[in-house]
Amino acid sequence: MVDIIYAGLALPLPGKVQTDYAVAVEGGRIVAAGDRATLFAQYPDAERFGGREYLLMPGFINAHDHGRAIGSASLGIRDDILECWLPMLGAQPHIPPYLAAAYDGIQQLKSGITGTAHSHNPASWEGMPDECPRSIQGYRDAGIRVAFHPPMIDQNTLVYADQDAFIASLPPELQADARGRATPPPFTIDEYIALCEDLYTRFHDAEHHTVHIQVSPAGGQWCSDDLIVASVEWAKRRGTRVQMHMLETQYQRLYAYRTWGKSFIRHLEDIGALGNWLTLAHMVWMDEEDRELLGDRRVGMVHNVSSNLRLRSGIPTRYLLVDNTAIGLDGHALDDDQDYWRELRLAWKVMMLKRPALPSLDGLAEAFLKLGLMASARITFGYTGLLGRMEPGMAADMQLIDFDAVRGAWAPDDYPELDDVPAFLLHRANKSHVRHVMVGGRWCVRDGQCVTLDEAAIAGEIRAVLAARDRGVLRERRHAAAQLAPHIRRLYAAWEQ
Ligand SMILES: [Zn+2]
Repeated sequence: MVDIIYAGLALPLPGKVQTDYAVAVEGGRIVAAGDRATLFAQYPDAERFGGREYLLMPGFINAHDHGRAIGSASLGIRDDILECWLPMLGAQPHIPPYLAAAYDGIQQLKSGITGTAHSHNPASWEGMPDECPRSIQGYRDAGIRVAFHPPMIDQNTLVYADQDAFIASLPPELQADARGRATPPPFTIDEYIALCEDLYTRFHDAEHHTVHIQVSPAGGQWCSDDLIVASVEWAKRRGTRVQMHMLETQYQRLYAYRTWGKSFIRHLEDIGALGNWLTLAHMVWMDEEDRELLGDRRVGMVHNVSSNLRLRSGIPTRYLLVDNTAIGLDGHALDDDQDYWRELRLAWKVMMLKRPALPSLDGLAEAFLKLGLMASARITFGYTGLLGRMEPGMAADMQLIDFDAVRGAWAPDDYPELDDVPAFLLHRANKSHVRHVMVGGRWCVRDGQCVTLDEAAIAGEIRAVLAARDRGVLRERRHAAAQLAPHIRRLYAAWEQ
């Protein structure tokens, strides 16, 4: 059975803007692409779906996220610097992992995203082996592809410094709480790798790429060299990927110099961690000298611009627009809403701040869109040969945008010019313009609504969970984290001198 999806405009990417375009889909793959009338004649019995008002393009890949279902601001967690914000995260109500993944998967699909990277935030470390399969099932039921990585940390869980000395410096009434936060997870490295292996065996789908299981020593400062090396070795053995948070804040950069007298990237090189298997999220504080090394080692990097603004981490502008950079929402979009289009727009503007020599931002729009497509697909799922483009042989992952709505009621019919369509989209599109989304030949969103799961029912279940939350306990946790914050600020402020 062949389906034909057609539109008045298309951005097949890497090709140029097309008019009256169509793709034929069979068995989850694109089998033909090109002129609409030609495909209609070639497949006279095919089911047809589309319209002249639409723009057809590949689905986006969200290269770094946490699948928390609801933005942290919506759950009462104030934005702060990362080092103070992370302790505060424990004060958000726990949403069961299936509901969180299903709901977040739906929100991302409605944003035109067809594949996401999920860095798991466990409700408890002990419960993580049980949480992961439920979370994976939530994404599967929603229909979005997921590169799933359970996290592991084994040091510096409270501060990236001598934790005993830090705790001793605190007022006595804060010390017991701080000591709890400074305790690493109750896993050995072997037990963690065994968990990844178990998930890999049960869920990794190397054929259709619906689920990839990856490994995540969660961030350089939180992980021993032994943990990072064991993770890299496992990923290489399994032909999968490693995802880490890296150089998100200036204090993480300073930690590396204080610990090894060299940059974090140099240190990762020295322990053999850099390679084309590695994805580094954030990378706000990368040293300029390390750029070439990262390129040589073909390390993937993810730009998380909203998150970096909200947590006051900074603005990376130097390394971008190269083919090893991807885009990720980090579950922390500017409007707390998982809008990938707006994230792209923000990143597009911010990335170019320090590039006044370039003639026009608009001229780079097509190259920029590819970051959210081909580059993000490769950096999130590795080179599968199937994702991030729209041409014969590729997976049928695509979005239909209501281009009439993007253009606005005032626009004459011949506006914008074809060459200006990519920039026009980047200037004006948002998730409300995403009308239909297909993943692997399966419709997940039609007319702006999720058709794989009952979104209202899932939202209702989440609302019930939140209504039943223990307000007293959460208030106590928030109070404890707020009490710690000035001491954490003071510790790191001293590093800046
Ligand atoms: Zn993150």
